[in-house]
Amino acid sequence: MSLTYPNGTCALDSVDLSVAEGEFVSLLGPSGCGKSTILRLVAGLMEPTGGQLNWLRPVARGDIGFVFQESTLMPWARIIDNVRLPLDLAGVPKGEGNDRAADGLVRVGLGDFQKAFPAELSGGMKMRASLARALVTNPRLLLLDEPFAALDEITRLKLNDDLLSLWEAQRFTALFVTHSVFESVYLSGRIVIVGPRPGRVVAEVPVPLPFPRG
Ligand code: ADP
Ligand code: ADP
Repeated sequence: MSLTYPNGTCALDSVDLSVAEGEFVSLLGPSGCGKSTILRLVAGLMEPTGGQLNWLRPVARGDIGFVFQESTLMPWARIIDNVRLPLDLAGVPKGEGNDRAADGLVRVGLGDFQKAFPAELSGGMKMRASLARALVTNPRLLLLDEPFAALDEITRLKLNDDLLSLWEAQRFTALFVTHSVFESVYLSGRIVIVGPRPGRVVAEVPVPLPFPRG
């Protein structure tokens, strides 16, 4: 698929990429090479201007979770209400939604912070709450756009392990955009390297053995 923005910027040129269900794939490449554009296309936020995007099985709303680098938690809402939001939007009754959101918070180690507001949490905790929110609907696909880039190294290492544990438990398909070679090797089973703009896939590197976890 290809994507040219309305202002004429060609962001992607014939990107050919297929991802199997349950696979963890990293997209690695320089700034501006079109990694976020790929995620936006996969999320259905825009349509390719050339070629097409095919799904093996149809995806429904709620089948895709999105995590961004910057916190998109609603500052005025408690953590539990933030995490429950996708379930509210899906029409899940509030009681059940609360149970599932609380369960999701336990999974990311934030069981004691249900009633806190986002501003009371550290950057790493906010990211874990964002992961819980993105996964609360049990999506088939999780899109992550440089989620840990703003965090310190130690917090990043912990979050890499948290993300791997969530993936092992829920087996969603993950498409993970990063600048970090370390992170891509540690987390994914395949690294897709995107070349400078207009983005194309220049190499695909399988990571056959799991990286030893600390
Ligand atoms: P990356 O995520 O790899 O940094 P992006 O997908 O954000 O790259 O951007 C790819 C290219 O498309 C860049 O040159 C960027 O400036 C351009 N671009 C991104 N969004 C838009 C937009 N809405 N309009 C025009 N150009 C854009
Ligand atoms: P089921 O397929 O029956 O929903 P799961 O093993 O997926 O069973 O979930 C077990 C429990 O955990 C359920 O209460 C479910 O709502 C909850 N749950 C599943 N995934 C998540 C998640 N990502 N975040 C929070 N709660 C979840």
